[in-house]
Amino acid sequence: MQLSRIELADLHAPKAIARAIFAQFGTVDAPVPVSKIARALDIVDINAQEFDGFEGMLLTDAVRSSGSILANTRYGSRRARFTIAHELGHFLMERHLLSGANGFTCKARDMRETRADKRHFRQEAEANDFAINLLAPFSLFDPLLSQNPDLRDAQRLRDHLNVSLEATVRRMIDRRQERLAAVWSKNGQVRYSVKSGGFPWITCKPGQRLPQFSLASKIVANGIKGFSGVTETNPLAWLNRSDIELFEQTRVANNGHAVTLLLADLADSDDEEDGLQELGMPEFR
Ligand SMILES: [Zn+2]
Repeated sequence: MQLSRIELADLHAPKAIARAIFAQFGTVDAPVPVSKIARALDIVDINAQEFDGFEGMLLTDAVRSSGSILANTRYGSRRARFTIAHELGHFLMERHLLSGANGFTCKARDMRETRADKRHFRQEAEANDFAINLLAPFSLFDPLLSQNPDLRDAQRLRDHLNVSLEATVRRMIDRRQERLAAVWSKNGQVRYSVKSGGFPWITCKPGQRLPQFSLASKIVANGIKGFSGVTETNPLAWLNRSDIELFEQTRVANNGHAVTLLLADLADSDDEEDGLQELGMPEFR
């Protein structure tokens, strides 16, 4: 594989760099060959094995003469692929300041960082943005989405793209128009949540039990692996407002891990009502 780093040199936006890499390819099939891409862009060594204390590491210098990537496989090869893409992101975004004398050391938490208010957070968020755009480009991701939001799509995309379910759930929330959120839990305890813009505030916090009146808490307590249906739920279980139609779906996996998708239907919100009235359409909801 031949790729030119020079053609990427003037680009700084994560999405634009990923797009420019694909432009050099012609066409790309799933799963995206992330290690080959990294090697074609001056990563001289990729060491994927079980490590302690970090998720990924990029050994390099300020001017990125060359780079070596270490990726932790403790949580599976799919996550390691994301980690390789994330470290490649730090390598290609030369404005990213090294986090140590020999390069970058990234923790599991960094791999889902989305905040942009401090330099470290912003660098991690940009590396993640690059990674997901490299591993799950729109052209390979969007065609596999169903008409309605469904966690089964995320699982299908996980297998298609060979990335983690966490990554495809986050990508699904990002790519769909609906107001969505996902809550990850282990043994009924919330790990973390993400939501799309416009989704209301979620009241449960990391470390707390899944809300008592949620369907998720019952499904997780049952412990039967697989997907629940997408079912209307009491909005007050998850939110501090009751004027929203809320739906939830849970997927229970091994070892007490679960993810719950929340879909908020804000169809009666003021702006949409105004829109309908302006168009002179009858209100039918
Ligand atoms: Zn990082």
